[in-house]
Order: sequence, then structure tokens, then C-alpha cells
Amino acid sequence: MAAEGVNARLNPLENAERQFDEAAARLGLDAGLKEMLKRPRRATIQSLPVVMDDGTIRVFTGYRVQHSIARGPAKGGIRFHQDVTLDDVAALAAWMTWKCAVADIPFGGGKGGIVVDPRTLSLRELERLTRRYAADLSDVFGPDSDVPAPDVNTGEREMAWIMDTFSMHSRRTEYAVVTGKPLEVGGSAGHREATGRGVRICVEQVCRHIGMPLEGARVAVQGFGNVGGVAADLLARECGARIVATSDVSGAIHNASGLDVTALLAHVAAHKGVAGFAGGQPLGTSILEYDCDILVPAALENQITGENAARVRAKVVAEGANGPTTPDADRILDGRGVWVIPDILCNSGGVTVSYFEWVQNRMGFYWMEDEVNIRLREKMEHAFADVLATVVREKCSLRIAAYMVAIQRVLKVHELRGMYA
Ligand code: NAD
Repeated sequence: MAAEGVNARLNPLENAERQFDEAAARLGLDAGLKEMLKRPRRATIQSLPVVMDDGTIRVFTGYRVQHSIARGPAKGGIRFHQDVTLDDVAALAAWMTWKCAVADIPFGGGKGGIVVDPRTLSLRELERLTRRYAADLSDVFGPDSDVPAPDVNTGEREMAWIMDTFSMHSRRTEYAVVTGKPLEVGGSAGHREATGRGVRICVEQVCRHIGMPLEGARVAVQGFGNVGGVAADLLARECGARIVATSDVSGAIHNASGLDVTALLAHVAAHKGVAGFAGGQPLGTSILEYDCDILVPAALENQITGENAARVRAKVVAEGANGPTTPDADRILDGRGVWVIPDILCNSGGVTVSYFEWVQNRMGFYWMEDEVNIRLREKMEHAFADVLATVVREKCSLRIAAYMVAIQRVLKVHELRGMYA
């Protein structure tokens, strides 16, 4: 997906650290432990020479950060974007550590990136670049050490190339080295819908807790891609919610009596965007400020900020995207009693099914989609219940509670494993 947006350049590392610091302060962590948990375990920078189609050589920059491997192999996606920085990758890697810990899956956190606008490369150039990156990291990646996945501008195709490159180097087919693969080469049923399905489960749980009926609730969804489109579809079809507004790079549309999501998905598939959908009217104002009960930011980071948070009208904000709410906005929303389901919990359905994919690869036995969905629901409900219990006990926001649960889980493992020196 595209990563442009007015506030996209607020430093995500600073945001991630502020969120961590607040939770760590509540847990009374001493300075040394805090430092240990915060710092990435390992960060690598790669120079990646690629022969272009015209015979010239271009050298790209790649990154891989392992934030933590305390609970298991580093887990996290690979982003292809012209603006990606080592700070971005480090922040995203830390978020993965906390996300995997909240979801209680046996992974640490990692993230990777290549500084490139993939739209400027031919398919073959893109493949050569991806394979060069994977080959360069073939001693870092591995089913037991570091398991990448898709992120912005990467998907099943790139994951298949990475799996193949790693397998060529290790002289055997190694499906479990990467997740988010096509079904035919070790992917999992249900993977594509997993993040949106997790968002739907979290929304349902929070509505139950605050006594707000989901049936008929008005939902606005920013971003109608993999996460937003699936979440909207499931909330409408399975929960009876009304999707009253949505947006993507093509524009924003609304319909107070509810958009026909099935027809909208077909429109987006045919026209590459929500704009022009006959069942809605163009929306001239910010979707984030639309009159609704539930807002699902599912596009970009840094969308709800100190500047616009006071104008958000939803009672529940379900973070499908990573980092859509800045710490300043969090404070404002929390002060107004808005329930923000934090990214590390709300969008953890994707990494949870990645874990299932890795498990299935290692067993060599593949589950039916229903089984994947049942196990996903079980995991997400547990995670939500653990976070909610902390909210009730600590009288804090869902975000701080989620961080507290995650930090305590990582800390416990460090405590049991001891400090090797
Ligand atoms: P995607 O590319 O499938 O969809 C992104 C959507 O956002 C598209 O509809 C795009 O048009 C829209 N968008 C882009 N810029 C916009 C803007 N300025 N205003 C409104 N809409 C805009 O990507 P995705 O996989 O759905 O990811 C969305 C977010 O969810 C990202 O933050 C991603 O990191 C996060 N996330 C994704 C997954 C996953 O499994 N796909 C898992 C966890 C988190």
C-alpha cells in the first residue's frame, strides 16, 4: 500500500517509545531494564547492488532490525518504500515485539525494509532486488531465528521469492522461513482476511464490554484495502453494523443509511478505488471526523493527531493500521472517554495467522479455513480479556494496558532465562 499522508513523517520511533515509556513507568521498571527492553537486539544495513534491465548497476539500501528474540524468532514484515528509514524499521520492529507478546504467540519482533519505490522497477528488477536482499540476509533469516512477512508494497509474490531464495541457499525447501506466502507454496487458509477478522473480533468485544449494540452501529472506515475492506465486510455481514463512510486514495464516500459493502468491494475491484461508487455520495470532510459510533483507521500512521482528535465523534476507535493515533491524540481521546483499541491488539490477527502458517509449515499438515478462524478467535478473545482485565485493575486505557501485558510477558521470559554475560 502507499505510505503517503500529511502526517506520515512524524517519527514513529518517538511515538513507539512514548507509548512504551508510559506503560513502563506504571510497571515501575528500573532504568536498566527499560533500556534493555527498548533497544533493538540487532540492526543491519545492506548495500544491495542490482543489475538493471538496461545493464547499469544501482545500489539500493536495505534494513533488517530484530528488536527482540526473547520469546521466539524475530517476526515482522518487509516494507518497500522510497522513504523508509532505519528509525521507521526499528519502531515497527519494537511494535512487533509487543504485538506478538499481547497476542501471546511465541515470537519476538523484527522488521525490514528496502529504500525503493517499487513502481519504478520492472518485475524482473524487483525480483532481483528482493532475491539479493533475501540472499544477503540468508544467515539472519530462518524458521528458528527470524521469520519475515509482507508489509507495505510487498505481498505473496515477494514472500514466494524470499522463500525460494532461502531454500536455494539451504539446499532444501524451507516454507517456514517466511509467512504470507501463496497457498500453493505453504500459505495458510484465512491469512488474507486475518487482520480484518481480528479487527472485527476486537470491535465486538469492546462493544460487549461498554454495552453498545454492534447491530445497527454506524461505522466509518479509513482505508478500504486488505484490512479496512475485510473489516468493513465482516462487520456489516456478520455483525449487522452499518458502514456509513469509507475512504481510500481515490477519495471518500458516505451513505448515512449504510453502504452496500458487497457491491462496494466489487466496485473497488473493478475501478481500483471507492470513488464513483453509485451507492454513496462523495464526502467533502475528513472521514476521521464523520458522525459515527465506531471509527476504523485502516490506512496509514499518524492520522489522528493532537490537532484533530477533539473532533473525532466515534465512541470506539479500532486501530486496523499501525500507529494511526499519536500519543497527543491518545491523551485527548482518553480524556473524552473514547475507547481506542490499540494497534498491537486490534490488528494482531494478521501475525496470529502468520504464526498458524509457520506451525502448519513445520507440521506439514494444513488446516481448513474454519479451523484457522476458530483458533484465531480463541487467541484474540484471550488477548482481549487479558488486556481488559488490566484496564479494570489499573484504570488505564486499552493501549497502556496492552503495553503492560506485553512488557510483563517479555520481562517474565527474561527473568526465567536469566542474563547471559
Ligand atoms: P492496503 O494497501 O491493502 O490498503 C490500504 C488502504 O489505505 C487502501 O485502500 C489505500 O487506498 C488507503 N489509503 C492510502 N492512503 C490513504 C489516505 N491518505 N487516505 C485514505 N485512505 C488511504 O494495506 P493494508 O494491508 O490494508 O494495510 C493498512 C494498514 O494496516 C497499514 O498501516 C498496515 O501496516 C496495517 N496492517 C496491515 C496488516 C495486514 O495484514 N495487511 C496487518 C497489521 C497491520
